[in-house]
Amino acid sequence: MKRNLGNLTIIVLVFLTVIIWLVFPPIKEGVENYARAYAGEVLGSVVIVLMSCSLFISTRPKWAEPFFGGLDKMYITHRRTSTSAFLLMFVHLLTVPITIVNLRLGNYLGMIAFLGIVAIVLPTLAPRIPFLSRLTGNTYEGWKKLHRYIGIFFIIGFIHSLTVKALSAFIAINWVQIFFIIGTICYLYTEVFGQYFKKYLPYTVEAVNHPNNATTEVVLRAKKDTIKKQRAGQFLFVRFLGSKELNESHPFTISSAPHENVLRITIKACGDFTRHLFSNLHAGTDAMIEGAYGMFDYKSGGRKQIWVAGGIGVTPFLSFIRDLETGLAYDVDFHYTVRHREEAIFVDEIKEAAKKNPRLKTHIRFSSTDGSLTVEDIVKNVGEDIHEHYVYMCGPLPMVQSFEKKFLDAGVPSGNIHYEEFNFR
Ligand SMILES: Cc1cc2nc3c(=O)[nH]c(=O)nc-3n(C[C@H](O)[C@H](O)[C@H](O)COP(=O)(O)OP(=O)(O)OC[C@H]3O[C@@H](n4cnc5c(N)ncnc54)[C@H](O)[C@@H]3O)c2cc1C
Repeated sequence: MKRNLGNLTIIVLVFLTVIIWLVFPPIKEGVENYARAYAGEVLGSVVIVLMSCSLFISTRPKWAEPFFGGLDKMYITHRRTSTSAFLLMFVHLLTVPITIVNLRLGNYLGMIAFLGIVAIVLPTLAPRIPFLSRLTGNTYEGWKKLHRYIGIFFIIGFIHSLTVKALSAFIAINWVQIFFIIGTICYLYTEVFGQYFKKYLPYTVEAVNHPNNATTEVVLRAKKDTIKKQRAGQFLFVRFLGSKELNESHPFTISSAPHENVLRITIKACGDFTRHLFSNLHAGTDAMIEGAYGMFDYKSGGRKQIWVAGGIGVTPFLSFIRDLETGLAYDVDFHYTVRHREEAIFVDEIKEAAKKNPRLKTHIRFSSTDGSLTVEDIVKNVGEDIHEHYVYMCGPLPMVQSFEKKFLDAGVPSGNIHYEEFNFR
């Protein structure tokens, strides 16, 4: 329940906005096209409420994680609130009664805000359209830079609402102003003054290892203070100083155990940053760390568990296994699947942990020779009581999504299924 409180609050805020407009309607006298103007303002208000929720999530408030189920889940909410605001903005534009003859400054500002937000959001929704991908250089970093300007158009959008010929509805307008203030503060915090409050801790790269020809293990040692309150399976944001290509903040799971006096992250080379890191990162490089975040924690589940790792999605499970100092208090079937034998990392360590912990049963699968891992295989292996199991998954999004559906069909309660989202876009 607590994990849904964040989303529930957002839904309540949206409904409350509509209810306030309905309970305290604007004055009708002398207003042309009253119904359309009224509906347009309600829609515009909901857009501001949803956008300020998105801007709030962008501040990455650690204290709010328990109410969403972790920062990765907060970014799913961010995607949903932003997409809903984006779509409602179109409906708002089509609903409000505007004519070319009586355009005011506020209308022009509204147009600027609308076009600015469209230009920023469309490459997120349709990253593969060639014209749009030119705006971002087809890279995540380019997309992130473009995304930074969204708050400016949010502010222009609000000034637009103050300068157009608005309906007279004192309470509703004041209610929306609260969200505008919250959204603006959150945006300024994220982009301008947050760096003075957030904890970016200095670390040094102590070692760089290559467990296979596409993966880098980076060992990081704190220069002074270490990141606090770390649980196995959490993730951090890291950037490396001294090289433009590596000085970008990227999220990675901490694959070491919390009791280790270094942090280890294990990174698959899949794009510009991670490939450059594979070839160029060396010991002695300075790094800045932000975190730890996330609530992917098997200890919150029941006695019988199924862990599923696909490819580099093994990293949180490495952390779980490395954390087994006092033995495992759960019965775990751990399925680790990769395409080829060479892609599997730290296999000896995983097998060694299974030998020491009889309650941990490992199943390593190479799909190119053994065929793809399926939920049917996992269920057959578990037996009758699949509905009593807790499932923890991390891997490629299509695999995780299809497994989630099949586990539900097999009778695993939805509250028992947990997965780590490796994608913030
Ligand atoms: C919570 C979390 C934990 C992760 N843990 C690991 C891990 O342990 N090991 C591992 O190899 N990978 C992990 N990832 C994925 C990793 O962050 C991306 O693969 C990496 O950032 C890709 O960067 P790139 O420039 O090389 O690739 P690109 O081709 O630029 O990006 C590939 C995709 O990665 C994501 N991505 C890229 N840059 C960022 C960024 N700065 N912030 C957020 N997402 C980004 C985007 O979805 C993008 O479409 C994790 C991601 C998340 C969200």
